[in-house]
Amino acid sequence: MSPVRSFVALLFLGVAFAQRVDDGADLVILGKVVSLDPKVPVAEAVVIRAGQIERLSSLEGARARIGARTRVLHVPKGGVAMPGFVESHGHLRALGKTERTLDLSDATSVDDVVKRVAAASAAVPEGRWIVGRGWNHERFADPVMPTAADLDRATSKHPVALYRTDGHALATNSAALAAARISDKTPNVAGGEVLKAADGRPTGILVDRAMDVVTAIADADPAPELLVADLKAAAKRCLEHGVTTFVDAGTTPTELLRLAALVDSGEFAVRVHALLHASTPDELAAATARPPILDLSNGRLSVRGLKISADGALGSRGAALNTPYDDRPGSTGLILAPLPHLLTAARKALAEGWQLCVHAIGDRANGMVLDAIEAALAERPVADHRFRIEHAQVVSPKDLGRFAKLGVIASIQPCHATSDGPWAPKRLGAARYAEMGYPARSLLDAGARITLGTDTPVEPLSPIRNIVAAITRWDPDGVLGGPFKAEERLNRFEAVAGVTTWGAYATFAEKRRGVLKPGMDADVVILEADPLTATPASLMRAKVVATIVAGKVAFERTP
Ligand SMILES: [Zn+2]
Repeated sequence: MSPVRSFVALLFLGVAFAQRVDDGADLVILGKVVSLDPKVPVAEAVVIRAGQIERLSSLEGARARIGARTRVLHVPKGGVAMPGFVESHGHLRALGKTERTLDLSDATSVDDVVKRVAAASAAVPEGRWIVGRGWNHERFADPVMPTAADLDRATSKHPVALYRTDGHALATNSAALAAARISDKTPNVAGGEVLKAADGRPTGILVDRAMDVVTAIADADPAPELLVADLKAAAKRCLEHGVTTFVDAGTTPTELLRLAALVDSGEFAVRVHALLHASTPDELAAATARPPILDLSNGRLSVRGLKISADGALGSRGAALNTPYDDRPGSTGLILAPLPHLLTAARKALAEGWQLCVHAIGDRANGMVLDAIEAALAERPVADHRFRIEHAQVVSPKDLGRFAKLGVIASIQPCHATSDGPWAPKRLGAARYAEMGYPARSLLDAGARITLGTDTPVEPLSPIRNIVAAITRWDPDGVLGGPFKAEERLNRFEAVAGVTTWGAYATFAEKRRGVLKPGMDADVVILEADPLTATPASLMRAKVVATIVAGKVAFERTP
């Protein structure tokens, strides 16, 4: 064979081979694309192949990549394809459990709660726990919490445990108190309180650490099939809301095992960045017994976060404040993890490559966490630790600049700022609320990196609703009013980046996700409206059309 003929033959083979391999894209999305990549911010189409973005393209260019096996999705008029959402702080198992938990988030009174528990108990075998969530006495006409005496009217045959909306107070009936052996003789544990009536008997309300014993019994030995069902239900919910990465703010070892198995077998479509419980020395030791897992199943699961709760929540007056609560002058809240534990955890995290993520709500807790991180960093300066403070709800002005200085990411929940808006000034007093309550803009202005989450199931898992809360500071549902500190509003770009690009950064994934550009993982959400331009009202109506994870259509709305 002459050299020319063999060259031609090789060329022919090469073309044939290329054609066989490249029979078009896996998925093509036609319509307006917002990439969040400043170099190519908009496009007419996205071309996806092998789980990654092949290119952003013109309509014409994208059509040329449509082969026989290519799936084609269309962005609706007025809508947009954009990077998949990152839920930066949520509770995966609890989210899934809401499917089989009594939802009390719209309960209007104690009587209403009692009625719903009575109705639910009719369908549950005697002796089984009835667990509810979401009541908020601040929304009741008569703002009192449901007591054991109230709940005994609903049922005496089932132990009842009803979590307040913030998860920091628990209303129980007498059967639950008996099951947990809580009586007038039960002392308060550190970081918790068993509320007692004038006669010394427990009222049924348990705060923070005092809830643990009931939670442990109610949750005891969850059947493996229930756990798997809960996790799968949570993933389904995520995909319906366009969430492609979920930061699980407190994963138990049992949950992690199940989750890893589901991820490994391809049954769990949502990426998870897991934060392991590390609030006590025992939990910290268990969490760090093995090294962090940076990336499992090609970016599906990372296990590198340590979750510590430094204090309680503001609603139940468990948040640790520097000066007493305005509506409970004797109390400055509860420290759940003291400074020495935080320091130990921060040192360990820096030495072993863990990402420290500390729940801190009150200004005292935020200051203490920053102190611990500052001290640990002084001993071992690690440049790219990406430690996070979860919530950062009440931050002293003198601490705002320390986030940037120490490289601590503020993981905040704009929807909390609007949900808590009506009552937070009562806890803090108007002046303190105005000075340091629910920062967002002021954190950015002080140079901090932020990332946005919903704390689901405390709040609905809706990044769109969270964006609306962030840009308006009005209650997105139009019930609670507003604006709640309008000066803390984020602009459109910041709010959208907060649930995408900045979320990717806060999970160490900014090189692979968070913007749409060639070579990045193809995590995409198609929405009915463009969050960079649509009015808040039309955004609240906008639905997720499709959710794509690693190039696969994981959710598609049926018309
Ligand atoms: Zn949380």
